[in-house]
Amino acid sequence: MSTDMIIVFFGELSTKGKNIMDFIRLLGKNIKHALREFGSLEYEIKKDHIYILLNGCDYESVKSKLLKVPGLLSCALAKAVQKDLNSLQEEALKVYLETGKISFKVDTKRIDKTFEIHSDILNREIGAFILEKAETSRVDVHQPETIIHIMIREESAYVYAKKDSGIGGYPVGIAGKSMLMISGGIDSPVAAYLMMKRGVKLECVHFAAPPYTSQKVIDKIHDLLKVLTDYQPSIKLYIVPFTELEKSIYEIAGPSYCVTIMRRMMLRIAERLAYQHNCLVVSGGESIGQVASQTLHSMKVIEEVGSLPFIRPLATYDKTEIIALAKKIGTYDISIRPFEDCCTIFTLKDPVTHPNSEKVKEIESRLDYQKMILDCVKNVEVQYITDEEEEF
Ligand code: ATP
Ligand code: MG
Repeated sequence: MSTDMIIVFFGELSTKGKNIMDFIRLLGKNIKHALREFGSLEYEIKKDHIYILLNGCDYESVKSKLLKVPGLLSCALAKAVQKDLNSLQEEALKVYLETGKISFKVDTKRIDKTFEIHSDILNREIGAFILEKAETSRVDVHQPETIIHIMIREESAYVYAKKDSGIGGYPVGIAGKSMLMISGGIDSPVAAYLMMKRGVKLECVHFAAPPYTSQKVIDKIHDLLKVLTDYQPSIKLYIVPFTELEKSIYEIAGPSYCVTIMRRMMLRIAERLAYQHNCLVVSGGESIGQVASQTLHSMKVIEEVGSLPFIRPLATYDKTEIIALAKKIGTYDISIRPFEDCCTIFTLKDPVTHPNSEKVKEIESRLDYQKMILDCVKNVEVQYITDEEEEF
């Protein structure tokens, strides 16, 4: 049975001061949850690293889940070796050759202080062995292309060099909660991913306008959120019945101010839900200048109705950058399925790019929207999307 071990590296976490153990414990909890299908794994949660003993589990399968856990910078497969010089030399040579690099150095950590050979002697003896056996090898202690790490622990010695990169960021939940507005488009799922990556736990709100928008849109949102459960294992989705309010807005506002007012209503509702469910901020997938409602002028007028911070992780991203990220996280193919958004069901000619705040207020004063907002909030449908396999 494999006694190999995974070493987890933290990255930005390591800059945290006194509360560093809170971060590491939460990361450990999130990792254990993500890897719960691998029953025989054993964990050691320490200040420098999290160690995961494989106990026979396959590294590649574990790795594919592990690397998606926010807060993990990278991980390495450390090969278990007998605690004697010869075994260490042989394994170190193998690991070095696998890297395909030329210049190297050996770096030993002797955690088991009873081990008789000291770190600097191990570094020298193992380095000399590699130099002798691998013809083109060269030692460079200052800027090596690869470092051969040796770790002497109580139960075994370990050798590793290559690290596999994770997504970095912070463990989900450490930063508090946000209410994220999710449409079925490309942008909002990417914004969701970036929020999660930064340690923010999300609850999501979607505005639906049946019968103008169909169940297919809700299915699409489900599929998108299902992909995102790789990063946050359980996501709560609020579906707001928006049809009545939207129709009234359209009747009163006319085409050019319709979107601005609709966005203000969405924000009012999203904030109510945010307050109800202890979210500290609201977030969404807007990118500066992408459409009329996303100019800075529009954002200002829309945000006037809010009191919570509104975070837009994609504000400065180009569409090509957003698409690349959507492909990387696996939401793109779902996002491009055709769908009707509640904002696109009425054809709106020339939506205003520089809305006038006074004019917006004047239009809204002709709309008895308070009651409709209350109805929207009261009739919200709540659903849970989890990373559990679905039963058919
Ligand atoms: P794309 O621009 O790729 O079509 P998008 O999700 O960004 O997708 P936009 O029309 O640009 O859609 O909307 C900007 C933002 O407003 C979205 O990212 C989302 O946060 C929010 N939003 C739009 N429509 C809805 C909706 N029906 N329900 C909830 N939020 C929405
Ligand atoms: Mg967009």
